[in-house]
Amino acid sequence: MHFEHTEEERLFRDAVREFVKAEVSPHAARWEEEEQFPWDTWRQLAELGVCGVSLPSEYGGGGGGKTLMCIATEELSMASAGLATAYLVGCGIALDGICKHGTEAQKEEYVSRCARGDIAFFALTEPEGGSDLGPMQTRYRPTTDGYSLTGTKTFISNGEEAAFGVVFATKNPGAGHRGVSAFIVNKDTPGFSVGKKERKTGQHCNSTTELVMDDCLLPEKSMLGKEGHGVRIALEAIDKSRVAVAAQALGIARAAYDESVRYAKERQAFGKPLGQLQSIQWMIADMTTELEAARLLTYSAASLIDEGQLAIRESAMAKLYASEAAGRICHNAVQIFGGYGYTRDAPVERFSRDQRVTEIYEGTSEMQRWAIARQVLKMK
Ligand SMILES: Cc1cc2nc3c(=O)[nH]c(=O)nc-3n(C[C@H](O)[C@H](O)[C@H](O)COP(=O)(O)OP(=O)(O)OC[C@H]3O[C@@H](n4cnc5c(N)ncnc54)[C@H](O)[C@@H]3O)c2cc1C
Repeated sequence: MHFEHTEEERLFRDAVREFVKAEVSPHAARWEEEEQFPWDTWRQLAELGVCGVSLPSEYGGGGGGKTLMCIATEELSMASAGLATAYLVGCGIALDGICKHGTEAQKEEYVSRCARGDIAFFALTEPEGGSDLGPMQTRYRPTTDGYSLTGTKTFISNGEEAAFGVVFATKNPGAGHRGVSAFIVNKDTPGFSVGKKERKTGQHCNSTTELVMDDCLLPEKSMLGKEGHGVRIALEAIDKSRVAVAAQALGIARAAYDESVRYAKERQAFGKPLGQLQSIQWMIADMTTELEAARLLTYSAASLIDEGQLAIRESAMAKLYASEAAGRICHNAVQIFGGYGYTRDAPVERFSRDQRVTEIYEGTSEMQRWAIARQVLKMK
């Protein structure tokens, strides 16, 4: 299969690429060191229409699909994977459920806020389980005019930066998946607070935090979708969104690859450029091949989603392959840089730290393999 972006996609990619070159690349390493979220850059992304590009145009979005979201994610990830995580969570997975299951009023409010630059979170994981939703402990109980939420979510991207987000909670931990519902929660709701901030391996410019709810009172209108449909809403969002993580891995891998090719041409060993040594050539050949395979899987899955297909197997294959290939590419990149590759002066060191989590969040590699096998074998 030959896969080419359309004219519209190429124009969008070129615009984002130019923006990233001018406004992200020169500053990304500093944002990481200072652990600062780049608000000014984010606001510029919103003004350019990147934040809302894949959101429905009736509510202020750009009306584009997953492919455009993946393009923006890939380009941002070339320079700042942390900024890309803020984007793919804040404008992607957190909004997918709202776009599909939200009421008119919810879409009117939250989609337009996101397109204007408000960041969202998606709060599913709890201390007792990420892959397995069974032990969910965050509880909700009906009140006279709404709901009360109590519990703690953990590892939530955008925990500090977000203004609102989607929280999953159960009415009765014994009721299994049928007990879980989804809620849209504004962060300034009394009883809602940001807990511990994780000290991560990479992606330092984007926060990952606990979210704590202590008798957090929500109006009735804050339930997203039907009562008891929370797990379905969460899984649909993850199925639709994980291809963006593939695009993130692709962007990080491309950055590591570009640096490696440049260095292999410049750096001399035994009187010739590294690129003339066969061991380095083999690494470059493997990296080139894996990058291309990751690209094809990623954009073919995104295009199937844009055609209206669920593409669960294809998205899982894209995320599994792109994230693990990015791991191998970043590993080789550090190797090609030798000692410099193990220092903070070489960008590949940062890329290899930023890549690792693409094999973990939005479903670990093991869960992707499970999803692929289930689709193939048609087993529960
Ligand atoms: C930086 C970062 C950002 C994150 N952002 C978010 C966010 O915004 N929202 C959110 O809700 N969550 C988020 N997460 C959580 C993330 O989705 C979970 O960490 C992930 O799903 C794995 O869950 P766990 O950490 O509980 O690991 P576990 O589920 O405890 O898994 C541990 C290990 O066991 C394996 N395993 C578990 N079950 C199986 C099985 N059935 N078969 C085979 N292997 C299995 C896993 O693959 C893994 O290797 C984030 C995590 C990180 C690190």
